[in-house]
Amino acid sequence: MPQTKFVLEERDLPKAWYNILPDLPLPLPPVIHPATKQPIGPDDLAPLFPLEIIKQEVSTEREIEIPEPVRDVYRLWRPTPLHRAHRLERALGTPAHIYYKYEGTSPAGSHKPNTALAQAFYNKQAGARRLTTETGAGQWGSALAMACQFFGLECTVYMVRVSYEQKPYRRVMMETWGAEVLPSPSERTNAGRGIRAKDPQSPGSLGIAISEAVEDAVTHDDTKYSIGSVANHVLLHQTVIGLEAKKQMELAGEYPDVVIGCVGGGSNYSGLAYPFLADKFKGQKTRFVAVEPEACPSLTRGAYLYDFGDTAATTPLFKMYTLGHTFVPPGIHAGGLRYHGDAPSLCLLYDAGYVEAAAYGQRAVFEAALQFARNEGIIPAPESAHAVRRAIDEALEARERGERRVILFNLSGHGHFDLKAYEEYLSGRLEDFAYPAEAVEAASRELALLQP
Ligand SMILES: *Cc1c(COP(=O)(O)O)cnc(C)c1O
Repeated sequence: MPQTKFVLEERDLPKAWYNILPDLPLPLPPVIHPATKQPIGPDDLAPLFPLEIIKQEVSTEREIEIPEPVRDVYRLWRPTPLHRAHRLERALGTPAHIYYKYEGTSPAGSHKPNTALAQAFYNKQAGARRLTTETGAGQWGSALAMACQFFGLECTVYMVRVSYEQKPYRRVMMETWGAEVLPSPSERTNAGRGIRAKDPQSPGSLGIAISEAVEDAVTHDDTKYSIGSVANHVLLHQTVIGLEAKKQMELAGEYPDVVIGCVGGGSNYSGLAYPFLADKFKGQKTRFVAVEPEACPSLTRGAYLYDFGDTAATTPLFKMYTLGHTFVPPGIHAGGLRYHGDAPSLCLLYDAGYVEAAAYGQRAVFEAALQFARNEGIIPAPESAHAVRRAIDEALEARERGERRVILFNLSGHGHFDLKAYEEYLSGRLEDFAYPAEAVEAASRELALLQP
């Protein structure tokens, strides 16, 4: 009987995360200060993050132990299953073998708790009382709310106002896990009050919400800030995905020819890919494909330059593929993929040719999501459906070439809170957005001034 699920025992849960930094084939460009254009140091980050996390940002240790209290909570749903998509393979008539690692089994429904728990733990250990963060549609906010509840921290989430009003269910999840959720811009911070004074009806944006969460953290001694993607330590915590997947592919007796994932800030994809990339550095021939929306094509159409991490230009400068920090992507349903840049280490590996990238329009993405749901049952998050699209295209290409290809992708979350998007697709109202060339050009002109 061909096996469908490859399930590890709780005792197989990884004991350490994989840190790619010492293995990178090229030096990672430093994060620099916008005023001095010099590399930032630990003191610059201390108001935001606890020391352990700052150390992880620049660690040269290949393995970093997962604290036992974090593993203890991981065990509530980890190890997550690896599935072989037999039914989808048959529907596609492909000789390819399609595997997916399913992160939607976490209580929050995505991979995001993998880092939220670690961040809550290190902050609690360092004596913080409260964490602040921003959230768009609420995936990150809900993961952090749950993590704070487990580690006895208060949690304040600045939620983009338009999502706060239009998508109440993730807000209710956050409140169920004990977080305080404020519509952003709020009256709580100078940043929020300033924007509301000018525009009382402001719908908010992720950039504004970041500014509020950061201001709240740096103006309170007992409060720190928590980030859901992009940073080195976030990618590190997500490698638990790929470390498990490697053991599971061994159980399946195969090794992937191609490893695929969707990319917003790059954390779920790096989490799956980096442990396999370690083998590529030693000569493995596996291909790596990062998938993004055509409406926000930072890797495929962006420039590899220093840019701010946020719209309000309050963060240090990161070297990354970017569409410009003032670029506002169209309102596609994959809200988690609307970030203007990407994680610096992933950008470095893309620039050096270790990772490829592809972009798809949202209609093609939802077509793949439906095909997946109708064969495998699981309704993918719109973000994850980008990876599904590419996996299906790889399987179809393998069919054309009569090639046996082993495909592995990350199904980063389920779409149970995104059914509005499915409704639009099913009723034929879902639109594609063309590549916003003019908007990107306008946003990019400012970048020249920022370069060191
Ligand atoms: C947030 C999110 C993403 C995008 O973020 P990354 O940091 O690129 O992983 C992808 N999938 C799901 C389900 C998400 O919630």
